[in-house]
Amino acid sequence: MDSLISLSLAEHPKGGILQKVAIGFMALSLLFFILFCTNVVPVSDGLKVMLTFGVGSLAGILYAIPLFREKAGIRNNHIMFDKITARGIPAFALGIFLTGFYVVLYWFPWMMEGMIRAVDPLSNFLRHEPADQWFLYGTMYTVAILVMGIRFIAKYRHSRYQVIRTISVMFFQFGFAWLLPSFLKMLNQPEFYFSYFWPLKYDYLFPGTIQGLINNGGLGVFMVFWGAAMTFIITPILTYKYGKRWYCSWVCGCGGLAETMGDPFRHLSDKSLKAWKIERISIHSVLVFVTVTTILLWVNSAFEGAVLGGASGIFSQVYGFLIGSIFAGVVGTGFYPIFGSRVWCRFGCPMAAILGIIQRFRSRFRITTNGGQCISCGNCSTYCEMGIDVRWYAQRGENIVRASCVGCGVCSSVCPRGVLKLENLDYENRINSEPVMPGNKALDVK
Ligand code: SF4
Ligand code: SF4
Repeated sequence: MDSLISLSLAEHPKGGILQKVAIGFMALSLLFFILFCTNVVPVSDGLKVMLTFGVGSLAGILYAIPLFREKAGIRNNHIMFDKITARGIPAFALGIFLTGFYVVLYWFPWMMEGMIRAVDPLSNFLRHEPADQWFLYGTMYTVAILVMGIRFIAKYRHSRYQVIRTISVMFFQFGFAWLLPSFLKMLNQPEFYFSYFWPLKYDYLFPGTIQGLINNGGLGVFMVFWGAAMTFIITPILTYKYGKRWYCSWVCGCGGLAETMGDPFRHLSDKSLKAWKIERISIHSVLVFVTVTTILLWVNSAFEGAVLGGASGIFSQVYGFLIGSIFAGVVGTGFYPIFGSRVWCRFGCPMAAILGIIQRFRSRFRITTNGGQCISCGNCSTYCEMGIDVRWYAQRGENIVRASCVGCGVCSSVCPRGVLKLENLDYENRINSEPVMPGNKALDVK
């Protein structure tokens, strides 16, 4: 029977032997990582890096090779049945591994001392100082985005938009979030991330951070200026012109990881109205939290601590622990295989909340739909990582103007009928000129 060619339109061959080998290599590299963290096996630093980073990267590349040979585009091949992409036992095992990794990274870094020391040579070369857990993490993060970025490009190479924006997130992660901060360290300058701004990098507008940068002199003053200009001027302008996609899908490292490493899990996002309701409460609560914290710190600083004492500091510590560590790290990435790839971006990121408000009420960006062409296949809704029921709009020929849409464009890339178009044109030039929010009405009715 195996020799017969299936005539099913839904049937596609599975990855074959190469992808099985790749998964085996990936499991092996994770195993090596755990072993080398504990220093149980005495091997040289070079060998440790080769067996973890090297074997893991090789696994990612081997996994991508069949995609280059196949026809470009989405594959619905077993994605709802494979245990790793359909919340099976391997998915939970991976989720537990990732969650455990973040717990150790944030609170028990000494448990990965062996791997931290393994990247000392690289850290000494780039930063002129030994590695810490954040350098190890940044390096792993960057390698993951680069390798899985190649896989993503292989899969969506038919779409120029997907190729260019993936190269963009790879560039910003490698250059702006990894290499540049390392060079700054080497030059004894503050470790500043030019691609992150308040409120995502919540302490960049805290009075203590600003004072520290100003005390550093010329470059520090420029960093303060850069952070403030990006938050208050450039971000609103770019979001007005292009929607939140300019940041969430082209620049941000969190989005970069979600789009590349998280791509196999994007269909797991919850599309229900209930999830949408929770999302709006949760993300705006985080935004209020970080805004209040920042204001309190400034009030405290203005009165030299006379009014609030140490209370404002407690806010910032609680925020850092609950949101910065648990939400953004442990839950946001650890739960990829269970809740999809954009849990943090959708439910927690305060930057996404601000960009979303601008996008919803004051932006030229929207997705227009040519409803007459829609065959209701549901590909768009299935692969929307932000849980937007894109088909609902497409069936009605309505524009999609949703605060949460990160403009990844995957809905458009997987649509077999060319129904969806990401646009920045003036209102008058859109297919439909009136943005509607039918989901809100549905929520109100409930
Ligand atoms: S609606 Fe489309 S562009 Fe927006 S987040 Fe979902 S898949 Fe991406
Ligand atoms: S818009 Fe395209 S992908 Fe979405 S249901 Fe219609 S035909 Fe399918």
